[in-house]
Amino acid sequence: MLIARLSPRVAEQIAAGEVIERPASVVKELLENSLDAGATEVAVTLKDGGKSLIEVLDNGSGIHAEDLPLAVERHATSKLRAIDDLETLHTLGFRGEALASIGAVSSLQIISRVKATAGLEPASAHEIRLDHSTRELSQATATPATFGHFLGSSHGTRLRAEGLFSQIPARLKFLKSAGSELSQIREWMERLALSHPEVGFKLQSDDRVILNLRPQSIEERIRTVVADGEDFPIQHAEVLREGGLKLKAYWVQGMSLPHTRSLIQLVNGRALRDRLIQQAMLQPFRQSLLPGKFPALVAYLELDPRELDVNVHPTKSEIRFLDSRKIFTAFDEALGRLIQQHGAVAYVGGASSLGSSNVTNASHPSGMDVPFYSAAPHSPGMARSSDWLPQAAQTSLELQPQPFRLSESASVDVTNPEAPVPAQTFGNPALQAFRPENYLGILFRTYLAFDLGDELGLIDQHAAHERIRYEQLKLRALKRAQNSDVQNLLIPEVVRFDESRSASLESRLPVLENLGFHSEVFGPGQLLVRSIPPEWGNVELRIHLKNLVERLLGLELSGTTGVEQLFLDERLFEKLASEACRSSVRAGDRVDSWSARALVEQLGTCEHPWNCPHGRPTTARVPKARFEEWFQRIV
Ligand code: ADP
Ligand code: MG
Repeated sequence: MLIARLSPRVAEQIAAGEVIERPASVVKELLENSLDAGATEVAVTLKDGGKSLIEVLDNGSGIHAEDLPLAVERHATSKLRAIDDLETLHTLGFRGEALASIGAVSSLQIISRVKATAGLEPASAHEIRLDHSTRELSQATATPATFGHFLGSSHGTRLRAEGLFSQIPARLKFLKSAGSELSQIREWMERLALSHPEVGFKLQSDDRVILNLRPQSIEERIRTVVADGEDFPIQHAEVLREGGLKLKAYWVQGMSLPHTRSLIQLVNGRALRDRLIQQAMLQPFRQSLLPGKFPALVAYLELDPRELDVNVHPTKSEIRFLDSRKIFTAFDEALGRLIQQHGAVAYVGGASSLGSSNVTNASHPSGMDVPFYSAAPHSPGMARSSDWLPQAAQTSLELQPQPFRLSESASVDVTNPEAPVPAQTFGNPALQAFRPENYLGILFRTYLAFDLGDELGLIDQHAAHERIRYEQLKLRALKRAQNSDVQNLLIPEVVRFDESRSASLESRLPVLENLGFHSEVFGPGQLLVRSIPPEWGNVELRIHLKNLVERLLGLELSGTTGVEQLFLDERLFEKLASEACRSSVRAGDRVDSWSARALVEQLGTCEHPWNCPHGRPTTARVPKARFEEWFQRIV
C-alpha cells in the first residue's frame, strides 16, 4: 500500500500552510478578526520579528467562554452559516480557518471577555491554550482568567502566538531576519490601518514603538502612513457607478517611488494585492511617471458583495470581479480626473517639518480659477484669450501665428488646422496659474520661473518643449494614418493569430483600417496586411504586426485611448520621442520671454502636460512656506 492517511496533526499543519506563510500572515488574520469584532483600538506586540511572539490585543466584542474551544477549530466561524452568505458578506473573515491554522503552527493562547449585555451579570474573562507540540487544547473548556486590560475597555480579546513554526523546521528555515519580517508586518498593518482610519493601531517590537496611530480622518491617516507625515498635497476623486459601485481615490501628489508598495487597494474594507486592480491603478499614470517609478495611491473601492468572489485565494489577498471592465473604467475616470485637474507636478515638499495644512492649500494657488491668459496683454504673435478660448478644439496647433521657434530643428512645421485636440484638456486648469503676467524670468538658462502667489512655479524648458513636440508629432502621425496616407507593402505580410479569435478579430478590423493598416482575414488564423502607416517603418515588421494583432484582440476599445495604444507601439513611441527630443530647445539654450510664454501656452494645450514623453516632470512648485523657512520667517 502506497497511500496512507496523514495523521490529523500533519494534515492540520499542511493545511495551515495555505493560510499562514509567515509572521505577517498571523498579524493580518488576527487584525482582521479584531476589526470584524468591532475593535476601535488594536495593539500588536512582537518579539524577534514575530518569530518568538506575536500578540494582538483588541477592545472588540470578545468571545464567549463556551465559544473559545470552537474558535480554534477549523471551519468554525461566527460569520457565515450557509454558502449563500458569501453573497452578502460584510466581514473580513468567513472561513473559520485562521485561528486553527495559527494554532497548528504555534502555541496559541486566547484570553477574552465579552461585552456586558444589559440586565445580565457581566461575564468574566476566560482563557484557552492550544499546545503547539501536541495540538491539544490544554483543557476542553475555557478557564476563568483575571485580566482586565483590553486597552482601557472592559471587553476585548488578547491572542498570543508563540514560537511560530518552531516545531516545523521545514517552514522555519524560510523565515527571514527579524527586521525583514517586521517590515512585512508593518506593511500589512499599515494597509489595514488605511482601511480603518477610525481605528487606533499600535505596533511595538522588542519594546520599540514602530507605529502609533490614533483614530484619524482618512486624509490624516494617508498622510501619516503613506506620506510619512510629509506635506505633499493629497488629491482626491470619487466615482459612482450604477449598482452601488463607489471608488474613492486618494493620490499623494508628487511622491514617486521605486516600488509598488504604496499602491494601496482596499476593496469593501479588505486590503488586497490584486493584480488587476494594480494594473488599473497604474494605467492612467503611464504617461506621467518615469519607467520604474510608481505613484502613491490609496483606492477605496466599494461594491455589492455579489459582484466579487473573495473566496479564490487562501490568504484572501486576491479576488475575482464579476465585471472587471467596470472596475477598470472607474479607475480610469477617477485617476484620469486627478491627473487632469492637478497634474503630475513635481512638488518641493518632502524634507519639511511643517504642519501639513498650509502647504496643502498652497497647491491651489488662489488665482487658479482665473482663466489662462485672461489678463494677458494683447500683442502681435500672441492670441488673445477671447480669440483663443472658445475655439479651443481646433486651434491649438495653429494658434501661434509666430510659432514657438528657437532653433532650426525646433521649427519643424506640424501646423495642421484640422488636428483634433481633446477638448477636455484644453487650457489645463492646473497650468492656468502659469499666466504670462506671472512670468519672472529664466533660472540657470533652463527653468522658466513664475510667481504663483503662494508658490514659485518652475518649468523645465527642454522637458516642456519635448512634451509639446511629442504630442504634435504623434498627432500628425495619427492624422496621416487616419487620412489613409499609408505605405502600401510591396509584398503583403501574413500575420498568424489564434483561429478561435477569428470572429473577434474580424469585427475589429475597421479599427485597424482606420489607423492605416489595410488588412483582411485571408485563411484560417491568417491576417493579410497590405498597408501600414508610413511612420511605422519596415524593420521587423512581422513581429510588430503580430504584437499589434495581439493588442487589438486584448484591448478594451474605449474612446481614443485604446486606439492610440494600438497605434503607438514601443518602437513608434521611441521614434517620436527621440525626434521630439532632437527638435526641442535644450537646457542652456537662450529663450526670450515671448517664446517662454508661448511655450507655456502650448504646454497648456497638451494632453499630458506634466511630463516629458519619458516621464521627467515638466513643472515643479516650491511653496512659499519653504522660502519662509529658509529665511526663518516661520517660528
Ligand atoms: P473567521 O474569522 O474566518 O471566522 P477565525 O479562525 O479567524 O475565523 O476566527 C474564528 C472565530 O473566532 C470568528 O468567527 C470569531 O467569532 C472569533 N474571533 C476570533 N478572533 C476574535 C476577536 N479578536 N474578537 C472576537 N471574536 C473573535
Ligand atoms: Mg478570521
